[in-house]
Amino acid sequence: MLAAMRDCAEVYPIFILDPWFPRNMRISANRWRFLIEALKDLDDNLRKINSRLFVVRGKPTEVFPVLFKQWKVTRLTFELDTEPYSKLRDAEVERLAAEHNVQVIQKVSNTLYDIDRVIAENNGKPPLTYVRMQTVLASLGPPKHPVQAPTLENMRDCQTPWKPTYEERYGVPTLEELGQDPEKLGPHLYPGGESEALRRLDIHMKRTGWVCNFKKPDTEPNSLTPSTTVLSPYMKFGCLSTRTFWWRLTEIYHGKKHSDPPVSLHGQLLWREFFYTAGVGVPNFNKMEGNPVCVQVDWSDNQEHLKAWSEGRTGYPFIDAIMTQLRTEGWIHHLARHAVACFLTRGDLWISWEEGQKVFEDLLLDADWSLNAGNWQWLSASAFFHQFFRVYSPVAFGKKTDKNGEYIKKYLPFLKKFPAEYIYEPWKAPRSLQERAGCIIGKDYPKPIVVHEVVSKQNIQRMKAAYAKRAGASSGEPKKQHESDKKGGKRKSATGQSVAEMFIKKNKTKKI
Ligand SMILES: Cc1cc2nc3c(=O)[nH]c(=O)nc-3n(C[C@H](O)[C@H](O)[C@H](O)COP(=O)(O)OP(=O)(O)OC[C@H]3O[C@@H](n4cnc5c(N)ncnc54)[C@H](O)[C@@H]3O)c2cc1C
Repeated sequence: MLAAMRDCAEVYPIFILDPWFPRNMRISANRWRFLIEALKDLDDNLRKINSRLFVVRGKPTEVFPVLFKQWKVTRLTFELDTEPYSKLRDAEVERLAAEHNVQVIQKVSNTLYDIDRVIAENNGKPPLTYVRMQTVLASLGPPKHPVQAPTLENMRDCQTPWKPTYEERYGVPTLEELGQDPEKLGPHLYPGGESEALRRLDIHMKRTGWVCNFKKPDTEPNSLTPSTTVLSPYMKFGCLSTRTFWWRLTEIYHGKKHSDPPVSLHGQLLWREFFYTAGVGVPNFNKMEGNPVCVQVDWSDNQEHLKAWSEGRTGYPFIDAIMTQLRTEGWIHHLARHAVACFLTRGDLWISWEEGQKVFEDLLLDADWSLNAGNWQWLSASAFFHQFFRVYSPVAFGKKTDKNGEYIKKYLPFLKKFPAEYIYEPWKAPRSLQERAGCIIGKDYPKPIVVHEVVSKQNIQRMKAAYAKRAGASSGEPKKQHESDKKGGKRKSATGQSVAEMFIKKNKTKKI
């Protein structure tokens, strides 16, 4: 925005509601609410400097030529985006801008570093280990400092020509306009927007001892309030700059003993950077096929098990409590994500990580293309992490930090009368106890859909076979390039309907 305002008489801050996203992604009502609140907060902050936010509805390639003419645009500035669809979209927008004699300025600000520079520094390939990533980043020096937000002073020679009639056309949308059912909203735990992001950051950064001692593996997946920052949705939506977070941490660390990457908070931001870089450098990063870093596994297609997992009905209370928290609240702890991701894939159900990725894409407030794909590959031991023989137990893992199952009781209250001895394995409780607890296993709550001790052993053997096949393949003939690799991946094109139209249709057909 600062680049847009420089030497300009008028500035139009815009956000485009692009129908491609709801058409090609699953988006829960909770995440729509977060976005709406983020836009509202942005508009409020812009009003404070005598400007406004214009929420434009439509396909970017269709709305820009109209706006270029209507607003007599001479310069377009936006943040560099690294996801496959966004790159195609932005290249097309750049072409249209050139056609209309509009200068384009793109700035890197979603990541700590310019990802293309990181890849260039690593001989044109994304670093595939964290240590390698650290070495490459060390050679680039510390990340840039964030720039100041625009002020009234910056707006002195510039104005935003807002008219009252614009409210209807460019106002912040409501859930109803987007075809969302407010009944589907969960508790309002993480309001969207920059103001809330900065407030949340401040609260955490005041806890200097906690920040300096932060070690991710020591945080708890099943605490009743989050044991990590929950800043991820804010970073995903651009409400919080990762550079602001990084440099606040640097200030706190200064002169103090503190934890280090990969387990420290700086280390968490580097994980983000790591998966963003892989997302740019690895073709077909969100798929198994045509993805050169991903082990090819013969996952099974069991829709019933997939549904049971996604709806929190596997019969394993720890897994089901996590999936219930995800579905209602939109955020779960990183190690809780580990537990359910391992369970769905190589641990128990032997279902593709791509299916899990889709469910997370729908339900997470922080759903992020690169981070979701990268972490799912990690957890399913498909890429980056290869110790497939280390499987999380859906019973023992949660007990380590919550012996009495308070977390389970919170999210599955119908199990709350089970004593600690049975809360993780209620099917083992005697029938009389189940009756007293008011919950008969197999009737009021399912029996386990698989026997963990049996399937996890079988699955380790299946992973072993997949790895052996990969080793065999890589020692033989060079692999044929995958069709979608050559084409740069298949992309569906949007049809040009407005977001609202598309949502109305979606509601009728109940398809996303
Ligand atoms: C299967 C699976 C899917 C995931 N999908 C997503 C996703 O779609 N979006 C998302 O933001 N995170 C995802 N993660 C990573 C991680 O779980 C979350 O970033 C983290 O739990 C967010 O909580 P927090 O903000 O309290 O994290 P904190 O521990 O407070 O960390 C601070 C920030 O560092 C970044 N970060 C932390 N851990 C990771 C990680 N493993 N990978 C990348 N960045 C990280 C996040 O931006 C986070 O907000 C996924 C993890 C798994 C195992």
